[in-house]
Amino acid sequence: MNARIGVIGSCMVDLVTTIRRMPDAGETLEAPRFALGHGGKGANQAVAAARLGAAVTMVGCVGDDLFADGTLGNFAHLDIDAGHVRRVPGMTSGVAPIFVDENGENRILIVKGANADLAPSDVDAAAPALLTCDLILLQLEIPLDTVYYAIDWARRHGRRIILNPAPAVPDLALDRLVGVDFFMPNQTELAILTGHRADTPEDAAAAARHLLAHGISTVVVTLGAHGALLVNAEQTRLIPPVHVAVRDTTGAGDAFIGAFAAHYASGTPLVESLTRAARYAAMSVTAEGTQTSFPTYEAFVEFCA
Ligand code: ADP
Repeated sequence: MNARIGVIGSCMVDLVTTIRRMPDAGETLEAPRFALGHGGKGANQAVAAARLGAAVTMVGCVGDDLFADGTLGNFAHLDIDAGHVRRVPGMTSGVAPIFVDENGENRILIVKGANADLAPSDVDAAAPALLTCDLILLQLEIPLDTVYYAIDWARRHGRRIILNPAPAVPDLALDRLVGVDFFMPNQTELAILTGHRADTPEDAAAAARHLLAHGISTVVVTLGAHGALLVNAEQTRLIPPVHVAVRDTTGAGDAFIGAFAAHYASGTPLVESLTRAARYAAMSVTAEGTQTSFPTYEAFVEFCA
């Protein structure tokens, strides 16, 4: 794939402990299992696009700790250009301590750490690399001012922008999103950000249409097991789901967006890019984990055959 993609976003490390029950205050318990995983919505989307063969530049921040080495090692292993991932002295990397009980229920804490330090000056510093990219991907795990700055920067420099408004922050200023080419929320995020119901595809379509008035060209709402919805001035179209045996849906949205970006930036038409993104995300939910569930290009081609 000849796509060139820039991701300005978060790098996190998931610290997943399987527990029998949460300890009470002052209590120490033994837990049966622990696993460490690379995460962060920015890094996840970068990895999905890179696994499909896109050339990816990551712009982000890590701390000056062991997790930073792991994150940078992961990018290097996947041939992701991390020359613009800045180590922030005196800060920890972003981490997500996750507790999973025996019923599969998750309790998740997010410590943003160095991700909170990603600044407009980091976007400027990465400008030469970003100027070679066909598409810029943004999410909301970094400071909002940096997101707004990156949108303005990309628009001024004629780069196309995907904004995945996740996690939904209610103070996202919709009037700062003029020029966003693709706004890609899930149903929950769409409802929070617009204040409209989005539980059914019909409600989601109506809520998405409100966003077009804010200067966003195209809205794509991911609908979990129901597929995705494309809404722009020309059409409202359901991208049908791909039926699979589900094991773990964590990171499905990131798989979808990374795969869409890789396909679309390499010249695949819009609806076909979304159809392949739905297929890629469906494949990811058949395996455990987040980045570990994102298939390679070869495995994806085999799945599609
Ligand atoms: P998020 O992970 O951000 O909450 P969704 O749950 O909407 O996002 O999932 C993103 C995409 O992943 C969906 O649009 C769909 O294409 C695919 N997907 C998610 N869950 C399933 C599932 N159970 N079966 C098939 N595809 C799925």
